[in-house]
Amino acid sequence: MRWSTLVAALLTFGSGSAFAAPIQVVRQAGSQYSALPQEVLYTDGDLAVVRQPEAVVADFADLFVVNMVNRLSADSLQAFGDVLHLTPARFAVMRVSPEQVEALAAKLHSEGLACGVLTKLNPEFTVSAPGAAPTPLLPLAQADARVSKLTAAVSEASLKELISTLAALPTRFESTESGGGVAALLAAKYRALAAGRNDVTIVPYDHGRSTAQHSLVVRILGSKFPDEILVLGSHLDSVNWRDGRSERAPGADDNASGTATNLEIFRLLMAQGVRPQRTVEIHAYAAEEIGLVGSQDIANAYRRRGAKVVGMLQYDMDFYRAEGEEPKVWLVSNNTSRPLNQMLGQLIDHYVGLPWQERYLSGGSSDHASWYRAGFATAFPFEDPYNYNHNIHSADDTADNSGDYALVAAYTKLGAAYVLHFAGL
Ligand SMILES: [Zn+2]
Repeated sequence: MRWSTLVAALLTFGSGSAFAAPIQVVRQAGSQYSALPQEVLYTDGDLAVVRQPEAVVADFADLFVVNMVNRLSADSLQAFGDVLHLTPARFAVMRVSPEQVEALAAKLHSEGLACGVLTKLNPEFTVSAPGAAPTPLLPLAQADARVSKLTAAVSEASLKELISTLAALPTRFESTESGGGVAALLAAKYRALAAGRNDVTIVPYDHGRSTAQHSLVVRILGSKFPDEILVLGSHLDSVNWRDGRSERAPGADDNASGTATNLEIFRLLMAQGVRPQRTVEIHAYAAEEIGLVGSQDIANAYRRRGAKVVGMLQYDMDFYRAEGEEPKVWLVSNNTSRPLNQMLGQLIDHYVGLPWQERYLSGGSSDHASWYRAGFATAFPFEDPYNYNHNIHSADDTADNSGDYALVAAYTKLGAAYVLHFAGL
Protein backbone atom coordinates (compact mmCIF):
# COMPACT_ATOMS: atom_id res chain seq x y z
CA MET A 1 0.00 0.00 0.00
CA ARG A 2 1.10 3.51 -0.62
CA TRP A 3 0.61 6.27 1.85
CA SER A 4 0.59 9.67 0.25
CA THR A 5 1.83 12.49 2.44
CA LEU A 6 0.25 15.14 0.23
CA VAL A 7 -2.91 15.43 2.25
CA ALA A 8 -1.20 15.40 5.60
CA ALA A 9 -1.04 19.16 5.92
CA LEU A 10 -4.78 19.36 5.35
CA LEU A 11 -5.52 16.75 7.97
CA THR A 12 -3.12 17.53 10.75
CA PHE A 13 -3.71 20.22 13.34
CA GLY A 14 -1.08 22.45 14.81
CA SER A 15 1.11 23.14 11.79
CA GLY A 16 2.83 26.41 12.49
CA SER A 17 2.61 25.99 16.25
CA ALA A 18 5.78 25.84 18.32
CA PHE A 19 5.17 22.14 19.03
CA ALA A 20 5.98 19.77 16.18
CA ALA A 21 3.73 16.71 16.34
CA PRO A 22 5.63 13.40 16.49
CA ILE A 23 3.08 11.92 14.09
CA GLN A 24 1.33 12.81 10.90
CA VAL A 25 -1.67 11.26 9.22
CA VAL A 26 -1.42 10.24 5.59
CA ARG A 27 -3.87 8.80 3.10
CA GLN A 28 -3.42 5.46 1.35
CA ALA A 29 -3.26 5.33 -2.45
CA GLY A 30 -1.77 2.72 -4.73
CA SER A 31 0.09 -0.43 -3.80
CA GLN A 32 3.32 0.56 -2.02
CA TYR A 33 4.27 2.45 1.10
CA SER A 34 5.63 5.91 0.54
CA ALA A 35 6.10 6.03 4.29
CA LEU A 36 8.23 3.13 5.46
CA PRO A 37 6.15 0.33 7.00
CA GLN A 38 8.20 0.61 10.17
CA GLU A 39 6.88 4.16 10.58
CA VAL A 40 3.18 3.26 10.43
CA LEU A 41 1.75 3.24 13.96
CA TYR A 42 -1.97 2.92 13.31
CA THR A 43 -4.31 2.48 10.37
CA ASP A 44 -7.98 3.14 9.88
CA GLY A 45 -9.16 2.19 6.40
CA ASP A 46 -7.33 4.44 3.96
CA LEU A 47 -5.68 6.55 6.68
CA ALA A 48 -2.42 5.85 8.48
CA VAL A 49 -0.78 7.49 11.48
CA VAL A 50 2.96 7.58 10.80
CA ARG A 51 5.88 8.43 13.02
CA GLN A 52 7.80 11.57 12.06
CA PRO A 53 11.46 10.74 11.36
CA GLU A 54 12.74 13.17 13.98
CA ALA A 55 10.38 12.02 16.74
CA VAL A 56 11.91 10.34 19.79
CA VAL A 57 10.30 7.83 22.15
CA ALA A 58 9.64 10.47 24.81
CA ASP A 59 7.43 12.38 22.34
CA PHE A 60 4.92 9.55 22.55
CA ALA A 61 4.20 9.77 26.28
CA ASP A 62 0.42 9.84 26.81
CA LEU A 63 -0.38 9.77 23.10
CA PHE A 64 -3.66 8.04 22.22
CA VAL A 65 -5.73 7.32 19.16
CA VAL A 66 -9.35 8.04 20.04
CA ASN A 67 -11.54 5.93 17.85
CA MET A 68 -14.73 7.09 16.14
CA VAL A 69 -15.23 10.57 17.42
CA ASN A 70 -18.42 10.99 15.42
CA ARG A 71 -20.30 12.72 18.20
CA LEU A 72 -17.50 14.94 19.51
CA SER A 73 -16.34 18.19 17.96
CA ALA A 74 -12.73 19.35 17.88
CA ASP A 75 -13.60 21.92 20.54
CA SER A 76 -15.08 19.39 22.94
CA LEU A 77 -12.10 17.04 22.46
CA GLN A 78 -9.70 19.91 23.12
CA ALA A 79 -11.11 20.15 26.64
CA PHE A 80 -9.49 16.77 27.46
CA GLY A 81 -6.03 17.26 26.00
CA ASP A 82 -4.01 18.32 23.00
CA VAL A 83 -5.63 17.31 19.72
CA LEU A 84 -2.75 16.61 17.33
CA HIS A 85 -5.00 15.33 14.59
CA LEU A 86 -8.70 14.87 13.90
CA THR A 87 -10.43 13.21 10.97
CA PRO A 88 -14.11 13.93 11.62
CA ALA A 89 -16.25 10.80 12.09
CA ARG A 90 -13.10 8.62 12.11
CA PHE A 91 -10.49 9.20 14.81
CA ALA A 92 -8.39 11.72 16.65
CA VAL A 93 -4.80 11.56 17.86
CA MET A 94 -4.51 13.24 21.25
CA ARG A 95 -2.04 13.83 24.03
CA VAL A 96 -3.99 13.09 27.20
CA SER A 97 -2.46 13.22 30.67
CA PRO A 98 -3.24 10.36 33.10
CA GLU A 99 -5.55 12.73 35.00
CA GLN A 100 -7.43 13.68 31.84
CA VAL A 101 -7.79 10.12 30.52
CA GLU A 102 -10.51 9.30 33.01
CA ALA A 103 -12.57 12.38 32.14
CA LEU A 104 -12.17 11.72 28.42
CA ALA A 105 -13.15 8.07 28.78
CA ALA A 106 -16.20 9.05 30.84
CA LYS A 107 -17.21 11.51 28.12
CA LEU A 108 -16.76 8.87 25.40
CA HIS A 109 -18.72 6.42 27.50
CA SER A 110 -21.59 8.89 27.92
CA GLU A 111 -21.65 9.23 24.12
CA GLY A 112 -22.32 5.50 23.84
CA LEU A 113 -18.92 4.41 22.60
CA ALA A 114 -17.83 0.85 23.31
CA CYS A 115 -14.87 -0.99 24.70
CA GLY A 116 -11.43 -0.37 23.17
CA VAL A 117 -12.03 3.20 22.02
CA LEU A 118 -8.63 4.34 23.23
CA THR A 119 -5.43 2.91 21.79
CA LYS A 120 -2.17 3.95 23.37
CA LEU A 121 0.37 4.84 20.68
CA ASN A 122 3.82 3.37 21.12
CA PRO A 123 6.54 4.15 18.55
CA GLU A 124 7.81 0.57 18.84
CA PHE A 125 4.43 -0.92 17.93
CA THR A 126 4.18 -0.43 14.19
CA VAL A 127 1.61 -1.83 11.78
CA SER A 128 2.28 -4.81 9.52
CA ALA A 129 0.36 -5.84 6.42
CA PRO A 130 -2.66 -8.05 7.25
CA GLY A 131 -1.81 -11.71 7.83
CA ALA A 132 -2.91 -14.63 5.65
CA ALA A 133 -5.78 -16.70 7.04
CA PRO A 134 -4.83 -20.03 8.63
CA THR A 135 -5.08 -23.36 6.84
CA PRO A 136 -7.45 -25.68 8.70
CA LEU A 137 -6.09 -29.08 9.75
CA LEU A 138 -9.56 -30.64 9.80
CA PRO A 139 -11.55 -29.98 6.60
CA LEU A 140 -14.28 -27.35 6.96
CA ALA A 141 -16.63 -28.78 4.34
CA GLN A 142 -18.48 -31.00 6.78
CA ALA A 143 -18.98 -31.46 10.51
CA ASP A 144 -16.57 -33.80 12.29
CA ALA A 145 -18.06 -36.13 14.91
CA ARG A 146 -15.15 -35.52 17.31
CA VAL A 147 -15.79 -31.77 17.18
CA SER A 148 -19.53 -32.24 17.67
CA LYS A 149 -18.80 -34.31 20.76
CA LEU A 150 -16.77 -31.45 22.23
CA THR A 151 -19.21 -28.66 21.34
CA ALA A 152 -22.13 -30.68 22.70
CA ALA A 153 -20.43 -30.69 26.10
CA VAL A 154 -20.36 -26.88 26.52
CA SER A 155 -21.89 -26.20 29.92
CA GLU A 156 -23.89 -23.07 30.72
CA ALA A 157 -23.42 -23.88 34.42
CA SER A 158 -19.61 -23.75 34.05
CA LEU A 159 -19.82 -20.48 32.15
CA LYS A 160 -22.08 -19.03 34.81
CA GLU A 161 -19.70 -20.07 37.57
CA LEU A 162 -16.74 -18.06 36.26
CA ILE A 163 -18.83 -15.08 35.16
CA SER A 164 -20.30 -14.88 38.68
CA THR A 165 -16.88 -15.24 40.34
CA LEU A 166 -15.33 -12.44 38.28
CA ALA A 167 -18.35 -10.15 38.51
CA ALA A 168 -18.36 -10.52 42.30
CA LEU A 169 -14.96 -8.80 42.59
CA PRO A 170 -15.34 -5.08 43.40
CA THR A 171 -13.51 -4.22 40.18
CA ARG A 172 -10.87 -5.68 37.88
CA PHE A 173 -9.48 -2.28 36.94
CA GLU A 174 -5.76 -2.51 36.20
CA SER A 175 -4.45 -0.28 38.99
CA THR A 176 -6.66 -1.60 41.81
CA GLU A 177 -5.94 -4.26 44.40
CA SER A 178 -8.70 -6.61 43.24
CA GLY A 179 -7.66 -5.99 39.62
CA GLY A 180 -4.13 -7.00 40.49
CA GLY A 181 -5.27 -10.46 41.57
CA VAL A 182 -7.24 -11.50 38.50
CA ALA A 183 -4.43 -13.21 36.59
CA ALA A 184 -3.60 -15.34 39.66
CA LEU A 185 -7.27 -16.20 40.20
CA LEU A 186 -7.55 -17.38 36.59
CA ALA A 187 -4.22 -19.22 36.74
CA ALA A 188 -5.48 -21.28 39.68
CA LYS A 189 -8.59 -22.29 37.72
CA TYR A 190 -6.57 -23.25 34.64
CA ARG A 191 -4.08 -25.17 36.77
CA ALA A 192 -6.84 -27.22 38.42
CA LEU A 193 -8.20 -28.20 35.00
CA ALA A 194 -4.77 -29.04 33.56
CA ALA A 195 -3.75 -31.43 36.34
CA GLY A 196 -1.58 -34.24 34.99
CA ARG A 197 -0.90 -32.66 31.60
CA ASN A 198 2.81 -32.07 31.04
CA ASP A 199 2.18 -30.36 27.68
CA VAL A 200 0.39 -27.43 29.40
CA THR A 201 2.08 -24.35 30.86
CA ILE A 202 0.32 -21.49 32.67
CA VAL A 203 2.45 -18.35 32.96
CA PRO A 204 1.63 -14.81 34.11
CA TYR A 205 2.93 -12.09 31.76
CA ASP A 206 4.58 -9.05 33.34
CA HIS A 207 4.11 -5.77 31.42
CA GLY A 208 6.75 -3.83 33.34
CA ARG A 209 6.02 -0.15 33.73
CA SER A 210 3.03 -0.15 31.35
CA THR A 211 0.69 -1.64 33.97
CA ALA A 212 1.04 -3.43 37.29
CA GLN A 213 -1.66 -5.87 36.17
CA HIS A 214 -0.43 -9.16 34.72
CA SER A 215 -1.82 -10.93 31.68
CA LEU A 216 -2.02 -14.74 31.67
CA VAL A 217 -0.69 -17.04 28.95
CA VAL A 218 -1.96 -20.64 28.96
CA ARG A 219 -0.18 -22.87 26.42
CA ILE A 220 -0.96 -26.38 25.19
CA LEU A 221 2.13 -27.39 23.25
CA GLY A 222 1.38 -28.74 19.78
CA SER A 223 2.10 -32.45 19.32
CA LYS A 224 3.10 -32.15 15.65
CA PHE A 225 3.58 -28.44 14.80
CA PRO A 226 4.67 -26.87 18.10
CA ASP A 227 5.95 -23.71 16.37
CA GLU A 228 2.56 -22.90 14.85
CA ILE A 229 0.40 -21.06 17.36
CA LEU A 230 -3.36 -20.64 17.43
CA VAL A 231 -4.48 -17.94 19.86
CA LEU A 232 -7.73 -17.42 21.76
CA GLY A 233 -7.85 -14.06 23.55
CA SER A 234 -9.95 -12.08 25.99
CA HIS A 235 -9.23 -9.22 28.39
CA LEU A 236 -9.37 -9.78 32.12
CA ASP A 237 -9.77 -6.17 33.30
CA SER A 238 -12.94 -4.17 33.83
CA VAL A 239 -13.65 -0.49 34.37
CA ASN A 240 -16.34 1.90 35.48
CA TRP A 241 -16.02 4.95 33.26
CA ARG A 242 -19.47 6.20 34.30
CA ASP A 243 -18.84 6.82 38.01
CA GLY A 244 -15.04 6.80 38.24
CA ARG A 245 -12.57 4.26 37.00
CA SER A 246 -11.87 2.51 40.30
CA GLU A 247 -15.53 2.35 41.33
CA ARG A 248 -17.50 -0.91 41.32
CA ALA A 249 -17.15 -2.56 37.91
CA PRO A 250 -18.64 -6.07 37.75
CA GLY A 251 -17.98 -6.27 34.00
CA ALA A 252 -20.17 -9.35 33.62
CA ASP A 253 -20.47 -8.83 29.88
CA ASP A 254 -17.30 -6.72 29.48
CA ASN A 255 -15.51 -9.04 29.81
CA ALA A 256 -16.21 -11.82 32.32
CA SER A 257 -18.22 -13.38 29.48
CA GLY A 258 -15.29 -13.71 27.05
CA THR A 259 -12.94 -14.77 29.84
CA ALA A 260 -15.37 -17.53 30.84
CA THR A 261 -15.77 -18.57 27.21
CA ASN A 262 -12.05 -19.29 26.93
CA LEU A 263 -11.85 -21.10 30.29
CA GLU A 264 -14.77 -23.31 29.24
CA ILE A 265 -13.07 -24.19 25.95
CA PHE A 266 -9.96 -25.17 27.91
CA ARG A 267 -12.03 -27.22 30.36
CA LEU A 268 -13.50 -29.22 27.47
CA LEU A 269 -10.12 -29.74 25.80
CA MET A 270 -8.75 -31.13 29.07
CA ALA A 271 -11.86 -33.17 29.93
CA GLN A 272 -11.80 -34.89 26.55
CA GLY A 273 -8.02 -35.37 26.50
CA VAL A 274 -7.43 -33.31 23.36
CA ARG A 275 -3.77 -33.08 22.28
CA PRO A 276 -3.75 -30.52 19.47
CA GLN A 277 -1.21 -30.77 16.63
CA ARG A 278 -0.56 -27.04 16.62
CA THR A 279 0.18 -25.13 19.82
CA VAL A 280 -2.93 -23.56 21.33
CA GLU A 281 -2.53 -20.47 23.50
CA ILE A 282 -5.25 -18.90 25.59
CA HIS A 283 -4.44 -15.32 26.56
CA ALA A 284 -6.20 -13.21 29.19
CA TYR A 285 -4.97 -9.65 28.64
CA ALA A 286 -4.32 -7.00 31.24
CA ALA A 287 -5.30 -3.34 30.89
CA GLU A 288 -7.36 -3.48 27.71
CA GLU A 289 -9.59 -0.68 28.96
CA ILE A 290 -6.79 1.89 29.13
CA GLY A 291 -5.68 1.41 25.53
CA LEU A 292 -5.14 -2.29 24.64
CA VAL A 293 -1.96 -2.15 26.73
CA GLY A 294 -1.50 -5.86 27.53
CA SER A 295 -2.34 -7.23 24.09
CA GLN A 296 -0.17 -4.68 22.24
CA ASP A 297 2.77 -5.68 24.40
CA ILE A 298 2.29 -9.41 23.78
CA ALA A 299 1.38 -9.19 20.08
CA ASN A 300 4.45 -7.09 19.36
CA ALA A 301 6.73 -9.36 21.38
CA TYR A 302 5.47 -12.31 19.29
CA ARG A 303 6.01 -10.40 16.06
CA ARG A 304 9.51 -9.34 17.15
CA ARG A 305 10.57 -12.92 17.78
CA GLY A 306 8.99 -14.06 14.51
CA ALA A 307 6.40 -16.29 16.16
CA LYS A 308 4.18 -18.15 13.69
CA VAL A 309 0.75 -17.13 14.94
CA VAL A 310 -1.61 -18.75 12.45
CA GLY A 311 -4.78 -17.15 13.80
CA MET A 312 -6.11 -15.08 16.70
CA LEU A 313 -9.73 -15.10 17.85
CA GLN A 314 -10.81 -12.56 20.47
CA TYR A 315 -13.74 -12.86 22.87
CA ASP A 316 -14.90 -9.61 24.43
CA MET A 317 -18.65 -9.35 25.19
CA ASP A 318 -20.69 -12.35 24.02
CA PHE A 319 -23.41 -12.26 26.69
CA TYR A 320 -25.97 -9.55 25.89
CA ARG A 321 -28.93 -9.80 23.54
CA ALA A 322 -31.49 -7.02 23.31
CA GLU A 323 -35.06 -7.95 24.15
CA GLY A 324 -36.91 -9.18 21.10
CA GLU A 325 -33.71 -9.69 19.09
CA GLU A 326 -33.27 -13.15 17.58
CA PRO A 327 -30.14 -15.01 18.76
CA LYS A 328 -27.38 -14.80 16.18
CA VAL A 329 -23.59 -15.08 16.03
CA TRP A 330 -22.03 -11.79 14.89
CA LEU A 331 -18.54 -11.55 13.44
CA VAL A 332 -17.01 -8.08 13.51
CA SER A 333 -15.90 -7.15 9.98
CA ASN A 334 -13.27 -4.48 10.75
CA ASN A 335 -9.73 -5.20 11.98
CA THR A 336 -10.40 -8.85 11.17
CA SER A 337 -9.61 -11.30 8.37
CA ARG A 338 -12.50 -11.76 5.97
CA PRO A 339 -11.34 -15.23 4.82
CA LEU A 340 -11.10 -16.34 8.45
CA ASN A 341 -14.57 -14.94 9.17
CA GLN A 342 -15.98 -16.91 6.25
CA MET A 343 -14.37 -20.10 7.57
CA LEU A 344 -15.78 -19.43 11.04
CA GLY A 345 -19.16 -19.05 9.36
CA GLN A 346 -18.86 -22.65 8.14
CA LEU A 347 -18.09 -23.77 11.69
CA ILE A 348 -21.14 -21.89 12.99
CA ASP A 349 -23.29 -23.68 10.40
CA HIS A 350 -21.90 -27.07 11.46
CA TYR A 351 -21.78 -26.76 15.23
CA VAL A 352 -23.72 -23.80 16.60
CA GLY A 353 -27.09 -23.97 14.91
CA LEU A 354 -27.65 -20.21 14.86
CA PRO A 355 -27.62 -17.79 11.93
CA TRP A 356 -24.50 -15.63 11.58
CA GLN A 357 -23.54 -12.38 9.96
CA GLU A 358 -20.55 -10.08 9.59
CA ARG A 359 -21.07 -6.54 10.80
CA TYR A 360 -18.94 -3.39 11.17
CA LEU A 361 -18.31 -2.30 14.77
CA SER A 362 -18.02 1.46 15.09
CA GLY A 363 -17.02 3.22 18.26
CA GLY A 364 -15.03 0.41 19.77
CA SER A 365 -12.55 -2.36 19.34
CA SER A 366 -10.66 -4.92 21.37
CA ASP A 367 -7.40 -6.83 21.72
CA HIS A 368 -7.64 -8.53 18.31
CA ALA A 369 -6.78 -5.09 16.87
CA SER A 370 -3.32 -5.38 18.46
CA TRP A 371 -2.76 -8.68 16.64
CA TYR A 372 -4.27 -7.37 13.42
CA ARG A 373 -1.81 -4.46 13.43
CA ALA A 374 1.04 -6.88 14.19
CA GLY A 375 0.24 -8.68 10.92
CA PHE A 376 -1.71 -11.73 12.08
CA ALA A 377 -5.08 -13.09 10.90
CA THR A 378 -7.77 -12.18 13.44
CA ALA A 379 -11.45 -12.66 14.17
CA PHE A 380 -13.79 -11.08 16.69
CA PRO A 381 -17.12 -12.80 17.44
CA PHE A 382 -19.08 -10.20 19.41
CA GLU A 383 -22.69 -9.49 20.44
CA ASP A 384 -24.69 -7.41 17.94
CA PRO A 385 -22.32 -4.58 16.88
CA TYR A 386 -25.32 -2.31 16.19
CA ASN A 387 -27.01 -3.06 19.49
CA TYR A 388 -24.48 -4.06 22.11
CA ASN A 389 -24.84 -3.81 25.88
CA HIS A 390 -25.42 -0.19 26.93
CA ASN A 391 -24.57 -0.99 30.58
CA ILE A 392 -20.89 -1.71 29.99
CA HIS A 393 -18.31 0.40 31.85
CA SER A 394 -20.72 0.93 34.73
CA ALA A 395 -21.87 -0.75 37.95
CA ASP A 396 -24.86 -2.03 35.97
CA ASP A 397 -22.86 -4.43 33.79
CA THR A 398 -24.20 -7.39 35.77
CA ALA A 399 -25.32 -10.86 34.76
CA ASP A 400 -28.90 -9.88 35.56
CA ASN A 401 -28.73 -7.10 32.99
CA SER A 402 -27.17 -9.30 30.31
CA GLY A 403 -28.20 -12.74 31.17
CA ASP A 404 -28.24 -14.85 28.01
CA TYR A 405 -26.10 -17.81 29.01
CA ALA A 406 -27.33 -19.69 25.94
CA LEU A 407 -25.72 -17.00 23.80
CA VAL A 408 -22.37 -17.33 25.63
CA ALA A 409 -22.64 -21.11 25.16
CA ALA A 410 -23.20 -20.65 21.41
CA TYR A 411 -20.10 -18.45 21.08
CA THR A 412 -18.16 -20.99 23.16
CA LYS A 413 -19.07 -23.78 20.73
CA LEU A 414 -17.67 -21.69 17.90
CA GLY A 415 -14.36 -21.23 19.77
CA ALA A 416 -14.09 -24.93 20.56
CA ALA A 417 -14.66 -25.81 16.89
CA TYR A 418 -12.09 -23.16 15.85
CA VAL A 419 -9.48 -24.81 18.09
CA LEU A 420 -10.09 -28.34 16.82
CA HIS A 421 -10.35 -27.47 13.13
CA PHE A 422 -7.34 -25.12 13.07
CA ALA A 423 -5.09 -26.73 15.68
CA GLY A 424 -6.00 -30.31 14.76
CA LEU A 425 -6.23 -33.37 16.94
ZN1 LIG B 1 -14.11 -5.21 26.66
